[in-house]
Amino acid sequence: MINKELAKIFYQIAEFLELEGEKFKSQAYEKVALILETMSQDIKEIYEKGGRGALKEIKGVGESIAEKIEEYIKTGKIQYYEDFKKKLPFNLDELTKVEGLGPKRAKVLYEKLGVKNLKDLEGAAKKHKIRGLFGFGEKTERNILQAINFLKKSTGRFLLGEILPLAREIEEKLKSLKEVKEISIAGSLRRKKETIGDVDFLVISSDPQKVMDFFVSLPDVIKVWGKGPTRSSIRTKEGFDVDLRILPQKSYGAGLQYFTGSKEHNIFLRRIAIEKGFKLSEYGLFKGKKMVAGQNEEDIYHTLGMDWIPPEMRENQGEIEMALSHSLPKIIDVKDIKGDLHCHSDWDGGENSIEEIAQRAKEMGYSFVGISDHTKFLKIEHGLDERTLRRRNAFIDKLNLKFKNKGFKILKACEANILSDGRLDISDNALKELDVVIAGIHSSFKMTKEKMTERIIRAMKNPYLNIISHPTGRILKKRDEYQIDFDKVLRAAKEFGVVLEINSWPERLDLSAENIRRAKKGGVKMVINSDSHQIDQMRFMEYGVYQARRGFAEKEDIINTWPLEQMIDFLKK
Ligand SMILES: [Zn+2]
Ligand SMILES: [Zn+2]
Repeated sequence: MINKELAKIFYQIAEFLELEGEKFKSQAYEKVALILETMSQDIKEIYEKGGRGALKEIKGVGESIAEKIEEYIKTGKIQYYEDFKKKLPFNLDELTKVEGLGPKRAKVLYEKLGVKNLKDLEGAAKKHKIRGLFGFGEKTERNILQAINFLKKSTGRFLLGEILPLAREIEEKLKSLKEVKEISIAGSLRRKKETIGDVDFLVISSDPQKVMDFFVSLPDVIKVWGKGPTRSSIRTKEGFDVDLRILPQKSYGAGLQYFTGSKEHNIFLRRIAIEKGFKLSEYGLFKGKKMVAGQNEEDIYHTLGMDWIPPEMRENQGEIEMALSHSLPKIIDVKDIKGDLHCHSDWDGGENSIEEIAQRAKEMGYSFVGISDHTKFLKIEHGLDERTLRRRNAFIDKLNLKFKNKGFKILKACEANILSDGRLDISDNALKELDVVIAGIHSSFKMTKEKMTERIIRAMKNPYLNIISHPTGRILKKRDEYQIDFDKVLRAAKEFGVVLEINSWPERLDLSAENIRRAKKGGVKMVINSDSHQIDQMRFMEYGVYQARRGFAEKEDIINTWPLEQMIDFLKK
């Protein structure tokens, strides 16, 4: 969605205008930015459906702003904004990658400290020169350093949700070649890490030359890094690199094991092999000169006296020990999911009607779906108040009559907001009438650890609350988790019978794998939800499942793998 990109540009234009004394115009841009930021409908779609006229129907969007939105959709930039930037003596694009820095503050940093780019900024922050500036302070300086570290970590990586569909497309094309006898995705993508550097394919083929010719001339290839008989490497137009290796059949399993990683997992595995008198490499498992396993990955693990380990678990987080003692958890699978409890409907500004969501849920093989519209606080997302919520509930009751005795049910849910003091933004009387109450933090992210922990725990004490959505608030590549004492949150979740969400949205995947392991250990139940705002996003569920697998979650840990009755009983507390 380009909404957020546009919002960021408009915020910056607002600041430029303010610097130039154009107060009124500045406020107009700021208002539109705020609306764009929280709007769930894709602005590009609005434009594609109804042109500039449809844009102007959005509150606050007049002719001139509509024109700029159109320009951005068509050309990827806004000349008016580019002209502003040209006037500046510093690199605004670089500096504003740091959250919280806009033209106004960047100008101060330039004028007082001569900061022109990220490198200057990092230097100034490390030398503690920023904390003394008016309006900045020690906390801002720390935030700047954190943001820079974060940027360094996340550049050049792609979200699992961006890259997996593209990799599957390439895989399908390669599979269509009759010379491709077998193909697998390896590397971090096979392990379903939340962000991915590049994609690795392994292939068995009788005619490698033909496969390589086909691979380097795929339509999306913009650069060929290298082409050889056993290995070629390309870059796609989306900007990620793809490696293809041809392996001999007898080593295919060993190669798959080796190139799947992780490095830490493999180091440990090779050590076990040595201890047991073997030698493990990408070519096979050897006893002396004799290869004893190699064609199948399973055989390698079995010959080493352990169970086969699902790729998502291979991060050296105890999985090898468990495989050796035959005590690996039976981690969940996509097909175990019986329903999705977090779907936004058109009642709160989402794209699709409740009927459409129910229809898609049934197509996905679910036996229930929860309609969890936003409540009051998020006015721009058309959050529902008590009265509208009640009307919506009555509507769901009516729809449910159709599914009676058909093994499917629409659940009345909501996603309330946890206000900064920990109260929910809607009355208990309204919550009481729902099947599932979800609540999450959507505002005031920057709080001290104590305050934030207290805030969440106070919300958990609400007797009607069932689920905390996206519990740590992180946005991959953009924003770290907010400060919370996760152990305290876990203890409270256990005490008050509150379920923590694994949010499947590709940018969130919140909880992280590590936090899922911690929750499991603490006996806290979890739920995997899509948080969809349109029915096509309901497919995000699979990413949440992979995340749960990375966190060793079993069916008993994840309430939406349970039969509906059992889940509802549990939620009633
Ligand atoms: Zn939310
Ligand atoms: Zn949501």
